[in-house]
Amino acid sequence: MSPPPVLVVGAGPTGLNMALRLAQHGVPFRLIDQHEAPAQESRALAVHARTLEYYRQLGLAEALVAAGTEVQGIRMHEGGQERAYVDIKDIGRGLSPYPFILDLPQDEHEHLLVAWLRERGVEVERATSLLSFTQGETGVEASISTARGHAETARFDYLLGCDGARSKVREGMGTGFDGGTYQHLYYVADVRLDIPNRGRDVHLATGPETFALRLPARKGDMERLIGFVPDGIEQPTFETVRGSAEHLLGVKVAEVNWFSTYRVHHRVASSFREGRAFLLGDAGHLHSPVGGQGMNTGIGDAVNLSWKLAEVLLGRAPPTLLDTYEPERIAFARELVATTDRMFRAVVAEGFAGSVFRTTVMPMLVPAATHFAAGRRALFRFASQIRIRYPGSALSEGRAGDIAGGDRLPWADGPDNFAPLTTLDWHVQVHGEAHAALAAEAEELSLPLHRFDWSDGAERAGFARGAAYLVRPDGHIALAMEPRATGRLRAYARKHGLRFGRSSAPPLSARG
Ligand SMILES: Cc1cc2nc3c(=O)[nH]c(=O)nc-3n(C[C@H](O)[C@H](O)[C@H](O)COP(=O)(O)OP(=O)(O)OC[C@H]3O[C@@H](n4cnc5c(N)ncnc54)[C@H](O)[C@@H]3O)c2cc1C
Repeated sequence: MSPPPVLVVGAGPTGLNMALRLAQHGVPFRLIDQHEAPAQESRALAVHARTLEYYRQLGLAEALVAAGTEVQGIRMHEGGQERAYVDIKDIGRGLSPYPFILDLPQDEHEHLLVAWLRERGVEVERATSLLSFTQGETGVEASISTARGHAETARFDYLLGCDGARSKVREGMGTGFDGGTYQHLYYVADVRLDIPNRGRDVHLATGPETFALRLPARKGDMERLIGFVPDGIEQPTFETVRGSAEHLLGVKVAEVNWFSTYRVHHRVASSFREGRAFLLGDAGHLHSPVGGQGMNTGIGDAVNLSWKLAEVLLGRAPPTLLDTYEPERIAFARELVATTDRMFRAVVAEGFAGSVFRTTVMPMLVPAATHFAAGRRALFRFASQIRIRYPGSALSEGRAGDIAGGDRLPWADGPDNFAPLTTLDWHVQVHGEAHAALAAEAEELSLPLHRFDWSDGAERAGFARGAAYLVRPDGHIALAMEPRATGRLRAYARKHGLRFGRSSAPPLSARG
């Protein structure tokens, strides 16, 4: 049996998502993680709509939704008093089949992914570390230490660095990781409060010199608290912050399950690719926690690169397809770091300006902005990551209606136009009548053509009646074609050297 062509380093959410998708595409790989066991901490809680849309492609979304909590609203407190309530239940109605923010602890989330992989015969190789690597034109030589303390050298076609903030892959690529670290030390605690009905809201409490957040953390009755650790404390414990957190949020903490402190970084690697080595997730970008974007962005990286690798390794696209990964993903990472950075700086700013922002602007601005439908939709589009698009990508072409090449396939909210995405194949989507020449061209290229009756939902989503949209395996539009356009699918396939149609290979598992 030939060795697997791909080494995935790191089994956090990014590496696990890479593994899920490679397995589903039928690409053999190895998935290693230096830790002996999965992490037990709740860490990232927010699972956004775009991520759930990706999980739906694998039949995993419903399990995550069932395991998590749909956030209902944001309660804003100031000086221990509730000042405003913002209802965010169904905030994205009509925009996504998952019009909410799902709150699910990262360890429980990872557990579901590991179980899905196990059902398909894929195991994480634990206590196994990438030590170093070298690469040439034809492959990567990786030096790996295995669970029994052996060292081995193995050859792969591609090396995927999903190995987090202190990435060995990034180090081996020699790429920079510019940015900085915020001055404040933050605490995060999973606690049980002394109130029976904890609800499903996020609480944001501000004071002149500080802030505190309270979110549902576990299905039981654990809640997450986040805030500043006062300056100058050497070894903080929960008792260091108890007084301020309880006062700001107007609650009493009965039990502390987990307490940790961390510094917040904002950094983006100068490149996401060096030859046959790639960076994904925290290995490539670190953000402030505003909007819970970090983990979701890493999952998006894995989705973007996995189908491209599969196409190349299964002989359906030339290796140049991989050149589109970095420009598509690094642009978003840079923008995200810049936007979350600006918001975070405003929230945590010291002195008079920060104090006014926290105690006056925020409690007024957030409810006002979300009072109107347009404000709610804008907030959902930003947080949910459904706004991510690749307009400048070499793969993106054309415009029809409000939809351009590179956009996420919009949700039509009537006909289930996301159903074709579950095959992880390219397809053509038409809302309205599909003309015969298009159908013939799609058939000639072995491209499934999905036609939906024209609907109000399609019109609202921006589709043009009778226009055809070539959709990539990750649910982004590759090519938007006006009604009656001919020859464009053929020209697109030729230009990019693509062969469409299903792979005849059955899904393969890890280690081939
Ligand atoms: C307290 C806290 C709260 C957070 N809250 C949020 C939130 O609300 N929303 C959000 O989106 N994000 C949040 N984040 C960030 C989120 O946890 C990360 O963005 C996410 O874990 C990144 O996933 P990853 O898979 O890229 O990296 P990681 O989860 O760091 O996984 C990397 C994996 O690589 C392994 N590894 C590293 N080096 C090697 C090696 N040499 N060989 C083999 N394996 C290796 C590690 O063991 C690890 O398992 C939070 C983080 C923290 C710490």
